[in-house]
Amino acid sequence: MKKLLVLGAGTAGTMVVNKLRPLLDPEEWSITVVDQAAEHHYQPGYLFIPFGIYASEQVTKPRSRFIPKGVELISGEIDKVAPEDNKVDLMDGTVLQYDYLVIATGTTPRPEETPGMAEEGWRQTVFDFYTLEGATALADKLRKWEGGRLVVHITEMPIKCPPAPLEFTFLADSYFRDRAMRDVVEITYVTPLDGAFTKPVASRHLGGMLDERKIHVETDFYIESVDNDRNAIVSYDEREIPFDILVTVPLNMGADFVSRSGLGDELNYVLVDPGTFLSTTWDNIFAVGDAANLPTSKAGSVAHFAVDVFTKNFLSHIRGEEMVHVFDGHANCFIESGNGKALLIDFNYDTQPLPGKYPLPGIGPFSLLEETELNHFGKLMFKWVYWNALLPGRELPLPALMSMAGKQEVEE
Ligand SMILES: Cc1cc2nc3c(=O)[nH]c(=O)nc-3n(C[C@H](O)[C@H](O)[C@H](O)COP(=O)(O)OP(=O)(O)OC[C@H]3O[C@@H](n4cnc5c(N)ncnc54)[C@H](O)[C@@H]3O)c2cc1C
Repeated sequence: MKKLLVLGAGTAGTMVVNKLRPLLDPEEWSITVVDQAAEHHYQPGYLFIPFGIYASEQVTKPRSRFIPKGVELISGEIDKVAPEDNKVDLMDGTVLQYDYLVIATGTTPRPEETPGMAEEGWRQTVFDFYTLEGATALADKLRKWEGGRLVVHITEMPIKCPPAPLEFTFLADSYFRDRAMRDVVEITYVTPLDGAFTKPVASRHLGGMLDERKIHVETDFYIESVDNDRNAIVSYDEREIPFDILVTVPLNMGADFVSRSGLGDELNYVLVDPGTFLSTTWDNIFAVGDAANLPTSKAGSVAHFAVDVFTKNFLSHIRGEEMVHVFDGHANCFIESGNGKALLIDFNYDTQPLPGKYPLPGIGPFSLLEETELNHFGKLMFKWVYWNALLPGRELPLPALMSMAGKQEVEE
C-alpha cells in the first residue's frame, strides 16, 4: 500500500484529496489528511462580517463534511516533517509515514511580529479582519462607533488576498455613507507598496477609486511599531499616523513547522518549483495553496487553478513520468467596491490585471477592472460555489491557465 499524506485540510488540501481519491486505486493507495481545527472557514466571507453583511455561522462548516469516503481525516497539530525518514510528527506524539507528502497548511496573520500590535490596544482600538475572531470583534466596534480616524493598514507583502484591504476600505466608505456619518470619518489607507496595488494598471485604477472616495493613501510605509499610548502607527522612516481605529493586516507567515523542518524561506513558505509545486529539495514532497512560495497572489483562486495542474502532474510523477503541465500563476479575484458593485481582476506570473471581459471574450458576463453589479453578484455567489463545487473538487468551466482572450492591452 502506498501512502499519500496531505498536511492541512483548508481550501487547497480539501480539493487535493477530493480530486485524487477517485484517481488513485484504493487497493493500492491510502490517503490521509491532517488538520488542527474542526471547522472549515470560508475566509473570503470574513470581509463582510465587520459590516454586518455576514454572520460567523455563514462562513463556517464542519471540516469532516468535505472529506470524501476513503480518505482518513486526522485531527491534530503538525510538529515537524522529517523528509529523510518520510515521516511527520504531530504534537500529540503521533507519527505518520508517507510515500508522498503534500503540504497545504496555508498562511496566517502574525500580529505579535510587530512591536505593540498585539498588546493593550488589540481588539480595543487595533483590529484585524483576517481571522473570524478579529472580524467579529470589529463588527461590534463599528456598530457602536461614532466616528473619527479610521486607518486601514498592510504590514508587509505578501499577504493572502492582496485586494482584501482595499475591499475593506471601499466597503467602509459605503457603510459610513449608508449610516449618514461619512463626514465624521476620516479614512486613510496605509501600504508598504508605492501605490494602491501591486501591479501598475490596476494600481492606477484602484488608486483613482480611493481618490474619488476622498480616502488618503500613505505609500511606502514600513511599520516599525504601534504606539498604544498615542494611538499611532510609526514607520522606520519616522512617519507617524494617528488613528482612533486601526484595521491592520498583520505580517502573514506560513506554518512554523515548515521552518522547523528545513523546508521553507524566511516567512515559512515551502520552496517549490513555481510550475509544478514539487519541493526544490525532495522528490516526494509538494506544496500547494498559500503554503507554497509562489510569486503570485496567495488566493483561493490560485489554489483552485494550481490544484488542477498539480493533480495531472502528480499522476505522471508517481508513474515515474515527466510532469508536463506547467502552472502560470493564474489568479483572479472579485474586488468589492461598495454600493453593491465589484470589479474583477484576472492575471498570472507575467500578465498584470487588464481591462476586458471574463470568462467569455467580449461577452463576460463579468467585467475586468470595471465596477459592475454583476461582479458583486458573482462575488456573493462564489460562497455557494466554494462549498458546493470547489471544495468537493468538481470541475468548473474555468481553464486553469490564464487566457489573453477578452483582455485589452493598456499602456503602463
Ligand atoms: C479576509 C480574506 C478575504 C479573502 N478573499 C479572497 C477572495 O476574494 N478570493 C480568493 O481567491 N481568496 C481569498 N482569500 C484567500 C483564501 O481564503 C486563501 O488563499 C485560501 O484559503 C488558501 O487555501 P490554503 O488551503 O492554502 O490555506 P487555508 O485554507 O488557510 O488552509 C490551511 C489549513 O491548514 C491547517 N493548518 C495550518 N497549520 C497547521 C498545523 N501546524 N497543524 C495542523 N493543521 C494546520 C489550518 O487549520 C487550515 O485548515 C481571502 C482570505 C482572507 C483572510
